[in-house]
Amino acid sequence: MIKRKNYYEILGVTPDSSTAEIKAAYRKLARKYHPDVNPDSAERFKDITEAYEILSNNSQRNKYDTLNGFFKSEKTTTSSQKAEEEYRPKNNNSQTQHNFKNKNLNSKNKSYNKNFSSKFSEIFKDFKKNSSKHEKLKPVNGENVYADVSITLSEAVNGTSRTINIMHTSHCPLCKGRKFINGAKCSVCSGKGEVSDYKKITVKIPKNIKDGAKLRLQGEGNQGKFGGKNGDLYINVKIKNNSKIKYDGLNILYNIPITPYEAALGGNISVPTFEGNVSIKLPAYTNSGQKFRLAGQGLVQNGKIGDLIVTVHIEIPCSLSDDEVKLYEKLRKLSQNNIRENLFNE
Ligand SMILES: [Zn+2]
Repeated sequence: MIKRKNYYEILGVTPDSSTAEIKAAYRKLARKYHPDVNPDSAERFKDITEAYEILSNNSQRNKYDTLNGFFKSEKTTTSSQKAEEEYRPKNNNSQTQHNFKNKNLNSKNKSYNKNFSSKFSEIFKDFKKNSSKHEKLKPVNGENVYADVSITLSEAVNGTSRTINIMHTSHCPLCKGRKFINGAKCSVCSGKGEVSDYKKITVKIPKNIKDGAKLRLQGEGNQGKFGGKNGDLYINVKIKNNSKIKYDGLNILYNIPITPYEAALGGNISVPTFEGNVSIKLPAYTNSGQKFRLAGQGLVQNGKIGDLIVTVHIEIPCSLSDDEVKLYEKLRKLSQNNIRENLFNE
């Protein structure tokens, strides 16, 4: 004899409970143990649903009560022998059941599961329909995703684009984020409801971007569930260090080397800037540390524009040719000023 489950106990009701009470108990338990809410409770949810299925159907419930000795006080009992025969599936009387067990237990289980599963899925559908108001199936917005992008200064000024690989979570293509399919863990996502994968995204970085600027790419974050919005992707732009260039608000501070003869003689020097090369006119007798302001060549932000401030310093090239050395030697002989003469007198 198969040991039957106590459906009343499973639903937390009594044999005297009305169909409405049973239904209410089922709804309450289903919300609590639904696999979407509690992935570990799939078995329990199955039992709850099975109990509800039997107890909410008057004729099934009568047969179940009769077979298991549950009686309401006013209920007329029928012959328990007759009821048992009716209740059992046709091929499940004591004789065939015996054969079944020996020969084909698996097939029996399969047919039971199939039968159960189709009933289960009807109730499941019904539950889904009704539970669309409940919190679990409310739209869930996807999370924001953050990424760093490192660019050179010239890219910061001229604008660029980067293709980045973002770990991106989206709802499972099979279960659509519901984690379970007909009560069984989804095979694609193993019941997680989501899948993570790298996704290539090309980010356009606008010109004149500042170090630490954040770009927001709407909807490129993790995918929302149940109609929720996708998260956003935030790109944190980092400008690689450049010892020659610093920022001061919208102004760009630029340190450039000049040769001794440029410093002495002056003249036009060509300086690479963000808008291409610009020419700076150095006066004769330019000294290290002198600053030149190029108006309107700085960063642009909110309609304001900064300046490019160039500071020059005299630098000797790393290597000098023999001819250059000879010329410097000649210069030393010719030079009549001692530029350190007045150090103590000033
Ligand atoms: Zn899935």
